[in-house]
Amino acid sequence: MILKDLGLTERELDSIQIIFDLTKDGWPARLTDFSNRMNVKPSTGEEFLSSLEKKGYVLKKNGVIKLTDKGMEIMEKIERNHRIVETFLYRMGMDIENAHRNAKNMEYYVTDEFIDNLCSLMGHPRECPHGNKIPQKEECCSRPQIMKIVPIR
Ligand SMILES: [Zn+2]
Ligand SMILES: [Zn+2]
Repeated sequence: MILKDLGLTERELDSIQIIFDLTKDGWPARLTDFSNRMNVKPSTGEEFLSSLEKKGYVLKKNGVIKLTDKGMEIMEKIERNHRIVETFLYRMGMDIENAHRNAKNMEYYVTDEFIDNLCSLMGHPRECPHGNKIPQKEECCSRPQIMKIVPIR
C-alpha cells in the first residue's frame, strides 16, 4: 500500500501536513494561515480544503480547520515513512540534511512492506536522527527483529 494510492494528490498530502503543523499546539488553523503556508490564494486554499473535507480527512467550521481521525492516520503514515527512511539513510552514513531531503522525496511513494522491512532491519527504532518520535506500527514493531532474506540465485 502506497500513500499516493489512497486517491489523494500530492498537494492534498502536503495540505494534511500543513494543517497538522498549524494545529499541533492544540489550536485550530485558520483558512488564511493555511493558504499562506500553501502559497496559494485563499480561494484556491478553500478548494483544496473542500476536496479534503469531502474525502473525510478535514473538518471545516466557522473559518477554522482541523484534521479528522482519518486525517491524523494519514499524517502518522507520512511521519513513519519519512522518519524510517531518514533514520536508515543517516545510519548508512549520510548527513542529516541529505537524509532528510531524500526522505522527503520518498515519503509518499514507499510501500508499507518496504518501510516495515527497513524498520525491522534496524531493530524498530523509536526516534529519527532529529530526535522526533517514529510512529510505531503494531504488526511490525511488536515483533522481534526479523528480516525476510530472499536467497539470490
Ligand atoms: Zn526529516
Ligand atoms: Zn517496526
